[in-house]
This record gives sequence, C-alpha cells and structure tokens, in this order.
Amino acid sequence: MMYTRTTCRLCESDALTLIYKMPATPPVDNFRLPGEPEISLPSFPMDLYMCDACGHAQLLAVVDPQLLYGNYIYTSSSSTDLDNHFSAYADRVSAYLQLPPDASILDVGSNDGLLLSKFKARGFRVLGIDPSAYVAAEAEARGIKTLVSFFDSAATETVLRAGGPFDLVTANNVFSHADNLREFATSVREVLAENGTFVFEVSYLKDLVEHVVIDYVYHEHLCQHSVKPLKQFMAACGLQLINVERIPTKGGSIRCYAKKAGDPTKPEPVVESMIADEIDFGLYQKSTYDRLKARVDAIAARLTGMLDETLARGGSVASYGASATTTVLNALLGIVGKLSFIVDDNPLRQNRLGPGFFVPVRSSAALADFRPDIVVLSAWRFADQIVAKNQEYLSRGGCFIVPLPDIQVVKHEYSRTAI
Ligand SMILES: [Zn+2]
Repeated sequence: MMYTRTTCRLCESDALTLIYKMPATPPVDNFRLPGEPEISLPSFPMDLYMCDACGHAQLLAVVDPQLLYGNYIYTSSSSTDLDNHFSAYADRVSAYLQLPPDASILDVGSNDGLLLSKFKARGFRVLGIDPSAYVAAEAEARGIKTLVSFFDSAATETVLRAGGPFDLVTANNVFSHADNLREFATSVREVLAENGTFVFEVSYLKDLVEHVVIDYVYHEHLCQHSVKPLKQFMAACGLQLINVERIPTKGGSIRCYAKKAGDPTKPEPVVESMIADEIDFGLYQKSTYDRLKARVDAIAARLTGMLDETLARGGSVASYGASATTTVLNALLGIVGKLSFIVDDNPLRQNRLGPGFFVPVRSSAALADFRPDIVVLSAWRFADQIVAKNQEYLSRGGCFIVPLPDIQVVKHEYSRTAI
C-alpha cells in the first residue's frame, strides 16, 4: 500500500534530513459513509524531509495513489473561488506569453476541464488528460476533449497525435502530487512545441513556513516546492525556469514558467532574486523548521489544555471543516480524539465519518442542536466566513477557537471574556 523513497525526488541524492516530524494518519481525505468497506484504512507516515544537496522538501512515504484518489468526492468546478482563479489564470498566462490565436494547449491532470474551458472560451485549441474516467466524462460533457490516462513517457505519443506539439502545457498542483517528477517533466518537454511553455502552479514552501500552513503537508503532497531546487531540476530535465509569480491560492503558491533549454527567452530577474531571498530567509536550514515545530507544538499544548478543561467539567467540543487539511491539523494538534462531531457546510461531506477516529460530520444545524462549548475552526483559513455565518451559535454563548497562525478565541461581543 506504500513504499518509502530513499532518494531526492528532484536530484536523486540520498542525503535526506528529517525537518518536520508529522503524525501518521490514514489517508486524510478518507471521509466515508458508515458501512463503506474502505472506511478503515491504516495510518501512513507523512514526515517532511529536505534534500541536503538541492534543498527540495518532500515526503518519502509514497502511498498507493489508488488509496488516495479512489474516493474523489469533488470535481474542480465545485468551487467558485477556483472558477474565478482559472479565469484570471487564462487571462494572465495568455497575455504574458502572447499566445497566438490558434495556440494549442494541453492541461495535465485536467479534472473536469474547468481551466481548459476558460482557454477554449478565449478561442484556443485545448486538450485535457486525466486518469479519472469519471471527471474526464464531465469534461467531455462540457466540450473539452480529454484523454483518460496518466501522463508519463508511455502516453506522450498518444498525446502528441491528439493535438500536439503544444504551445502551452499547464499542470496545476499535479506537480506536487507526482512521485516520478523527472519522467513527468521530460514527458512535458517531449510534447512542447519548440518555443512552447510549461506553466505549473504549486504551493510554495516559503509561504508554508511564514504563514504556518503546516496542514498542507500530507500524503498527496509529495513535494513542497521552492525556487532554488526547481531551477536546478528543470535544467536537469532539459528545461529552463524563466519566470515565477507568487499567487495567494492554497495559503501561498507559485506559478512557474519553463521553456525548453536553448530557447532564447531571457529568464526574468525574479528567478534569481527569489532564490537569494529563500537563502536569506533560512529556507534551507533545519533550524527554521525546528522553530516552526516549536511554535505549532506550543499552540497544540495550549489548545488541548483548554479542551481538556472543558471536557473535564462535562462540556463538549466540536471542530469546523471536514477536509484533507483539517484532518491533518486535528491530528497535528492532538484534538481529534476529543471531538463529538465535525461541522461542514458541504452536503457531500455531511453524514460521513472522518478518517481514523470516525468522528461524524454534521451540518451547522448541529451547533444549535448540540450546543458544543467549544468549536475549533480547523478550517482556519476560512475563519472569517465561518464566524460571520454562525453568529447565532455565538450569541447563545458559543465559542470558536481559531488555532492558527496563533490561538484566537471568538465569543459573542457582549460576553467576551479574557482568557
Ligand atoms: Zn535533491
């Protein structure tokens, strides 16, 4: 069900240092209906390592993708944020690259074709490739031609025949999920037109450290990318990194642009300045991660103390958010065993049981029905929206705790008490 890598995913060095010990958990998005056979999956490690040679941060435990992705509840269009993000993406990338009107575009891991639909609406020729027949059928239904396949060296010929070579190849987040990145990148190179561009978005390691987005470290995210190792890796794959843009998605991400080695395009100065900035920041020093862990551990100790006190006097505790990141955070903070239930606003998540501890997921109506004393906002990046939507719970004496980046207690303004 899993194997453990012994070499760096980018440079193949075997000098790897543990930089953040994470709790082992079952696949973090394994929210199941009672009675489903896959409800009990074992725990797998998700410790974060750094390569001493190139600085790439990565997981060495590689869980069978079938276990991780077999239960896709969502397709990408289920989020309006993502819809807006992809519209802006299509505008920005086509303008920056000055794509000709008849340019051909391949999206790898194209899901339900949402990004490609934005490019198609702007007149470009598009092709998707995705291993899930289910989402590919949804893409086809919206008029996006999609190959059902993993993207690897065995697929490049079929991909080229179906619409290549491509002026633009996009990959969003899949570049964080693939174990064999070298094969992935060289396959991209093979299907690119001579002056074509590879654009990919990945969450950014520096944002993870600065904004304590530690709940973004889990089995699916095999890589936590940064510019220094990526530049070296691209060169080793016959590509060159020519631009990097910082974007706010997923708690902080980078959009990277690469062209074939030998392309006359001059790399933007931002590539070198970001690398200098990463080094100055200490992104490649273990002590940086020791400090991050000490900070998160202190938050965990304080939070579990508060919850234990509430439980000791007969109170109850719930959390808000049923997703991959909230499973990570609840495990990391040591609170999952203390929860009576988890609230989530998405009906697809409700009535399911969370991974490992089988905590039931309910709608926000449960806040009125069960009146938990404390609700931990595990979906802390959405704290403002959740608090705004649940004023009634607060007005009845409820209490939200935002765990990150530092503990914040939110009570009704007329009953606010110092802690
Ligand atoms: Zn390396």
